[in-house]
Amino acid sequence: MRTKELKIPVLVYHYFGKDRNLQAGIEIQDLNYIVLRDDFMSHIRYLHEQGYQAISFRQMMNARQGLEALPPKPVILTFDDGHQSVYDFAIPILCKYKLQAEIFVAPLKIGTSGYMSWNQLEELVNEGFFIQSHTNSHVLLSKLSQDDIKYELVESKKGIETRLNVTVTALAVPMGGYPRILKTIAREAGYKFVCTSYYGINSIDNDFLYLKRIMIKSPNDKINDLQDLLMSKSFLSFKMRIKNGYKYLRNNLFLVSY
Ligand SMILES: [Zn+2]
Repeated sequence: MRTKELKIPVLVYHYFGKDRNLQAGIEIQDLNYIVLRDDFMSHIRYLHEQGYQAISFRQMMNARQGLEALPPKPVILTFDDGHQSVYDFAIPILCKYKLQAEIFVAPLKIGTSGYMSWNQLEELVNEGFFIQSHTNSHVLLSKLSQDDIKYELVESKKGIETRLNVTVTALAVPMGGYPRILKTIAREAGYKFVCTSYYGINSIDNDFLYLKRIMIKSPNDKINDLQDLLMSKSFLSFKMRIKNGYKYLRNNLFLVSY
C-alpha cells in the first residue's frame, strides 16, 4: 500500500468510569463523555486483534517526510482534558498493551479537583506518553479575539514545556471551537498538529493543522460504533459528517448559539 493511501484514524477519549455517575472535575452536561471501563477494554482489545498499532504525531510527520515507515494499520490515541480517570484507568491498560498516546492538558486545570497533577504528568512523560496543549484555560477559542487565542496557545505550550521539560507540538481545541484564524496562529506559535472535533479519518497528506478525530462518547461508544466509525462508510459516519457541517457553521458564522 502506498503511504499516501494509508488511513490514520485519531480517536479521542475524555473520561472513564464504571458508570456514568458524576465525578469530580466533570460537568453535569458532560456525563456522556464518560466512557465505561468495559467499553474501553473492548475498544483496546478490538484494535489489538485487528492489528492496529498506536503511533505518535511525530511518527506521522516522520512518515510524511519519508523518514520512517508506518505500520500497515496505524491509529493515534488521544485523551483530552487530563482527567484523573485517564490516569487511574486508561493508562494502566495502555501500558499493558504497550500503546502510546497523546494527552492534551490545560495548565490552569492541572492539579485542580478531578484532574491529574504535574507530578502525575511527569510520570506519564517518563512512561513515554506525550503531553500536549488543550489551551491554557480550556476555553472556546472561537469566542476569543486573535490576541487572546494567541495567549492561550503560547502560554499553554510554554507552561507545559517548562514544567515537564518536553516539546509541545500539538493542540486539541476545547469544545470543538476552531475559528478560521486558528491555523495561522497555531503555526506561528510553533504547533505542528491541531486536533479538531470534526469527524473523519486522516490520510498522510492531510493538513496536520486540521486533523479530524473520532470522538468516543455516548451513545456512540459501543464496539459496533467504533467499527462503523473506523470504516467510515456506515450510516453513523454519515450522520457524523452532517454534524461536521453544523460545527463548521457554529465555528465560523455564529449562526448557532452555544
Ligand atoms: Zn476538553
